[in-house]
Amino acid sequence: NRQWVLRQRPKGLIQPGDLELIESPIPSLNESEVLVRTVYLSLDPTNRTWMNDAEGYLPPVGLGEVMRGLTLGVVEQSRSDRFKVGDIVTPMSGGWADYAAVHETGLRPVHRASGLPLTANLSVLGMTGMTAYFGVTDVLKPQPGETLVISAAAGAVGSIAGQVAKQRGARVIGIAGGAAKCAWLTDELGFDAAIDYKNEDVGAALDRLAPDGVEMNFENVGGDIMIAVYNRLKAHGRMAVCGLISAYNATKMPPSPNFARIITHRLNVQGFLVLDYAPRAREMVAELGPWVLDGKVHWKVHVDQGLEGAVDSLNRLFTGDHDGKLLVRVSEE
Ligand code: NDP
Repeated sequence: NRQWVLRQRPKGLIQPGDLELIESPIPSLNESEVLVRTVYLSLDPTNRTWMNDAEGYLPPVGLGEVMRGLTLGVVEQSRSDRFKVGDIVTPMSGGWADYAAVHETGLRPVHRASGLPLTANLSVLGMTGMTAYFGVTDVLKPQPGETLVISAAAGAVGSIAGQVAKQRGARVIGIAGGAAKCAWLTDELGFDAAIDYKNEDVGAALDRLAPDGVEMNFENVGGDIMIAVYNRLKAHGRMAVCGLISAYNATKMPPSPNFARIITHRLNVQGFLVLDYAPRAREMVAELGPWVLDGKVHWKVHVDQGLEGAVDSLNRLFTGDHDGKLLVRVSEE
């Protein structure tokens, strides 16, 4: 049973020695627990924030502890009445390991009947889809004809958020790194425009695309990109603060927007966490599920092979060197 444990708190991008891959016995089960063999490990930008000794929405991963992570796996042993051997489950705390002993209350069953690949449960119809769906429909509440700007728009959350907003009749501008990602947004996902922040000035591009300003921002990045959008929010504009990925490896605080604008422009700036929406998962599946099955909403996964490469894989999120929701294949389905 290979396990990645946190040895020291990274400074900047994760370096060799910050985490260590160790070999441990397969855990034995207590009453109401099941043994889950990890098939896919979800790698998420927030994993990096859990490595810091800082106040967060979850406690930091302790030094010497197995790295926390969302997984999808197969039940190999069971001391639970609710789950049997062979069931497919998504433990909320499977972790970066081949095997995990998980209490039955921490498991969600996965049904193959949908006809979608299993990876959909860790992407478009999993936490990613939930974040995108509720960030748009519950936080921003777009009205037809309003303009929404999304950063990290070609990423897992951003790409789905933009398509949900299009279904609600909004005009959507995506910000992404590189011509290929921008072309995917406009040519395949139906975004109205895309800004390549690596080759264009974001503020100038927004002034060209939305000279009167924009109503909404779905913010995934923070820093200068966020400020460029924030400064162009119209009066009564709404901002859903989903993530600030540009700060997750930062060793000093990135620049902040001018808060006076919240007053002068009566802005509504709201942070949100997907965890709070867990009880409403069915609403997301009921609306987004048919769009996915009908091909109205497109999604991609980027699957790296092997638990041993998980650290290098995670770093891809911060360079953009991945195409879709980032997963690691740990064992056969
Ligand atoms: P993505 O698939 O979007 O991957 C991250 C992307 O961010 C990269 O591909 C890269 O895209 C972009 N990026 C990374 N660093 C920078 C930078 N310094 N400047 C600009 N862009 C950068 O990941 P997710 O969809 O999983 O997550 C997107 C955001 O959503 C994150 O901020 C994450 O923390 C947040 N999130 C929040 C949740 C919540 O409950 N609030 C739940 C899930 C995610 P590119 O190639 O275009 O540069």
